[in-house]
Amino acid sequence: MSNLRSIMKEYADLRDKHKKELEHRKSVLYAKLPRLRDIEESLVKLSIDITKAILNNSQNRQELLEILHKKQMDLKAERVELLLENNYPRDYLELRYQCKNCKDTGYIDGKKCSCLVQREIEELYKQSNMSSSFKRENFDMFRFDLYSNEAENGKISPQENMKDIYRSCINYVKNFDSHDKNLFFIGKPGLGKTFLCNSIAKELLDAGRSVIYQSSPDLIDTIRKYKFDFDKEEENAPYLEELYHCDLLIIDDLGTELSTQFSNLAIYNILNRRLLNNKKIIISTNLNTDELMSTYSERIYSRILGSFSMYKFFGDDIRLKMRTM
Ligand SMILES: [Zn+2]
Repeated sequence: MSNLRSIMKEYADLRDKHKKELEHRKSVLYAKLPRLRDIEESLVKLSIDITKAILNNSQNRQELLEILHKKQMDLKAERVELLLENNYPRDYLELRYQCKNCKDTGYIDGKKCSCLVQREIEELYKQSNMSSSFKRENFDMFRFDLYSNEAENGKISPQENMKDIYRSCINYVKNFDSHDKNLFFIGKPGLGKTFLCNSIAKELLDAGRSVIYQSSPDLIDTIRKYKFDFDKEEENAPYLEELYHCDLLIIDDLGTELSTQFSNLAIYNILNRRLLNNKKIIISTNLNTDELMSTYSERIYSRILGSFSMYKFFGDDIRLKMRTM
């Protein structure tokens, strides 16, 4: 994936930078303390001698190696002493690493180092469009107490309803690889739809999955730019590809975009293409079913009905309650 390639380039640049910094430290310090340069040169010679001694399987090989190793240790000790005497840290002439475990290569014995996994996740977050405040929203912070537990006209209470939806969301993430479910969150604003979208996104991103989060107007904007802004075509192309291929696409606030023939077609295309490729989608909307039907063409509406599990959010706006608490 292009992500990994650009990250590996960063690692290479970092190693390069540290190498240059070391060269610079050396040249300044060697001018001041020439003995250190002698030591380095002797150490280089010694390591060549050691290699030779190992390759020449001579009789006194063991003896010779011992002498060479002793010399090596003495020189290294002298170097440390000189550094400390002159108030330099003992590792001043060693290469620095941001990650000592993998020496900034990203891999340990062919496996990704934890620093690389972390870096990839960061990159996924960046790509996902999740703002930093969204990152803090997660399943553990969900508050059922904000929902009324009084049932109305034969329905279950808003709190019971939220518990059901919440459990479905947890299962959605837990079994992400073994289902091809798409979720459709429908209900008035302020009932926790976006919060749950964010919690799902966060959980998946932390597991290293690619998630793209876009409000419906932004999504249309991105596609429009790609289609009509030829200056940006190249810049937008990889992102547009990700819209089709990422593990999960979340379209927030469906229905808030300016509804045009173009936006309708764009939404239909993206739904269709992802559904055909078994790529998962979550949609949230504040529109009710009548509004959905009148806003979107029959084919979009039936696509949604046929391919998504509907979750209806109801109750009072919890944002108002949070403000008065
Ligand atoms: Zn590492």
